[in-house]
Amino acid sequence: MFKWFKRQLDTIKSPTLDWVQVEVTTLCNGACIYCPHTLMGKRWTNKQMPIDLFYKLIPFLKYTDMVYLQGWGEPLLNNNIFEMIRICKDRGRRTGFTTNGMLLTEETIRKLVDLELDIIGISLAGTTAPTHNHIRKGTDFNKLVSNLELLCKIKAERKTPVPAVHLAYLILKSNFHELKEILPLAKRVGAKQIVASNLTLIIDSKLTTEAIFNDTRRMDYYSIALEEIKDKAASENIIFDYHGPGLDNASGCCRENVRHACVINVEGEVVPCVLTDPVLCKTREPGNGNPPCYIFKGHSFPIKGISFGNIQNETLTHIWNKKEYSGFREPFKPELTKSPEQILSEMPQCCVKCYKRLGA
Ligand code: SF4
Ligand code: SF4
Repeated sequence: MFKWFKRQLDTIKSPTLDWVQVEVTTLCNGACIYCPHTLMGKRWTNKQMPIDLFYKLIPFLKYTDMVYLQGWGEPLLNNNIFEMIRICKDRGRRTGFTTNGMLLTEETIRKLVDLELDIIGISLAGTTAPTHNHIRKGTDFNKLVSNLELLCKIKAERKTPVPAVHLAYLILKSNFHELKEILPLAKRVGAKQIVASNLTLIIDSKLTTEAIFNDTRRMDYYSIALEEIKDKAASENIIFDYHGPGLDNASGCCRENVRHACVINVEGEVVPCVLTDPVLCKTREPGNGNPPCYIFKGHSFPIKGISFGNIQNETLTHIWNKKEYSGFREPFKPELTKSPEQILSEMPQCCVKCYKRLGA
């Protein structure tokens, strides 16, 4: 009776989420020059989400429209990725993930098509092999494109529009000039949606100048070029969305939809966004107690992991409704009439000092 009552209460107070992001692995076969996975080296914790932990998610899938199987890692390296997709699809959830594309063999592509995966995001950092391969080390542009062409061919054979291909282009100062070639590439691989985003978690100070929002003298050049690509994309029925290019210092928003989405990390921790994923602060090196740091506006700050609970021993509803979690979301309410100064004073420091809050 008590259990029944608890279940009812859980349903009544359940969150309504746009998506839940699930970090299925922190393993990666890539070594992108800007990624914490690469830059933290030996400190990085390589983990797989076990399927038993994923099963714990099943009761909560009804609270969300979409499940995105993505965190800091390459999702196709989880041995149970197909089973995880099947679980979500069997429950009618839209399902997707982003990949570096290196493991998209014919067998894998056929399985993903059979499972009717909805979205496959493809990470890019250039539209030519030298640029992309230099930034996204351990991946190969030409192989990526030929894998995507195979995906297109198999979708055409099966007469299916899914998985829809979305291109995720990381804008850096050194690859911006290649972004204009993204539209021919999108057409070649059948992508109907492109998102161009910024480097927001800067761990290595040498990369500070790669973030285009720091290149303030050329803001007009970036803005005009991005708008031109957007217009051209629209005329070709392709959605082109971009972040930035400049910063809005008064902004109290966050790109991460923290009020209607959450991240469940590889260990089951419920986290507001990937930038606060506790996995970033773990260390495998005994005795290394210094937290990893990131750079914000020329200063270095320790990365703070935030977890509001773990689905191994609490329900998502209970975690979502905790006072601390509601309090965390509160300053991100757009309808607030408070002044920007007041909003900032109520935000955790990790959000105050975060480029995503500034629209990047
Ligand atoms: S492929 Fe993704 S997770 Fe892997 S190193 Fe590159 S950015 Fe990081
Ligand atoms: S402002 Fe930054 S740290 Fe805070 S929730 Fe948004 S992305 Fe995460």
